[in-house]
Amino acid sequence: MMFKRTVSLCCLRNKILFNDSVRYNSNDKIENWITNKLQPRYEKVKPPYDHVCQVGDPVLRVDAGPVDPKIIPTVEFKKNVDLLIKTMRRYGAYGLAAPQIGLSLQLFAMETTKAQLDDAVQSKSAGQPMDVVPLKIFINPKMKILDHTTTSYPENCASICGFSAHVPRAKSLEIEALDLDGKLFKWKAEGWPAKIAQHEMDHLQGKVFTDRMNPQTFSCAIWDVVNTRRGKVQIKFVPDVGTFSEFKKIFYK
Ligand SMILES: [Zn+2]
Repeated sequence: MMFKRTVSLCCLRNKILFNDSVRYNSNDKIENWITNKLQPRYEKVKPPYDHVCQVGDPVLRVDAGPVDPKIIPTVEFKKNVDLLIKTMRRYGAYGLAAPQIGLSLQLFAMETTKAQLDDAVQSKSAGQPMDVVPLKIFINPKMKILDHTTTSYPENCASICGFSAHVPRAKSLEIEALDLDGKLFKWKAEGWPAKIAQHEMDHLQGKVFTDRMNPQTFSCAIWDVVNTRRGKVQIKFVPDVGTFSEFKKIFYK
């Protein structure tokens, strides 16, 4: 009798557990289904992108191909250049190379506006000599270092979001490239614009600043915020808008 009762209780218990399990699985499936339905649908996007690729993307690790001068006057190429400029400005970056928007082409843009400069000085985030650099487009650039003396300042990259490191760069250089009219020009630079140009030239050869940095200076740009917010902070991969102070918002929300 006792045995029978025990069996009976066990059966009852198992039945309840089984039923709970069924109910749990069923609820779980419904919850997953609802969550799944509420998720935004992302279609596979093809380059060129209007966001910046992150390190790990193979496009950032290969030699970019030369631009056929015949395509420079085409509407399609102009569209790609416009997208590159627009994305650079959207991220508040001082330069952007075509591979960073998924285009494996020897093409980069650079620009430092007065507003960016004022912002960097005001927020004391510059930490190095900076200058205004008018918008410049370089197609199939060839670089020659004029002064190999190096200076090392913090560098970051829209493709290595949220991190920085000191990177030694040559003092001055000359670049020969094609402009948007397909004409060959020579451009000499020293200091700030030379540093940016070297960073962008690296992108065209599948290199990023971490390949050249002083490894001990590699830092998460918000390591202190991580502590004050007890780790409850996220790095954003798309900035809000273009100025330097807004760009800083890319680092956390
Ligand atoms: Zn970069």
